[in-house]
Amino acid sequence: MPKSTHKYTNREVTIVWKPDTCIHSTLCWKGLNEVFNPKKRPWIEPNGAKTEQIIEQVRKCPSGALSFYMNDAEDAEKE
Ligand code: SF4
Repeated sequence: MPKSTHKYTNREVTIVWKPDTCIHSTLCWKGLNEVFNPKKRPWIEPNGAKTEQIIEQVRKCPSGALSFYMNDAEDAEKE
């Protein structure tokens, strides 16, 4: 079965979440609740914190379910 991928973006960064990989460690929502809040829909709010804070938190995800890319890099690839 193909694994699903969800993307959430502010102007600078895109957060990528793979629910099938998530082990529900709670690290992300305990670390940066303004962005990662499982009680809200959508549960990721990419405008809830600065891009640097988001990147720092995404890097702490132990399962690899969260990743990110900079939107500038994607634009550069398209050109
Ligand atoms: S930190 Fe990663 S593995 Fe843990 S709940 Fe968040 S997305 Fe899932």
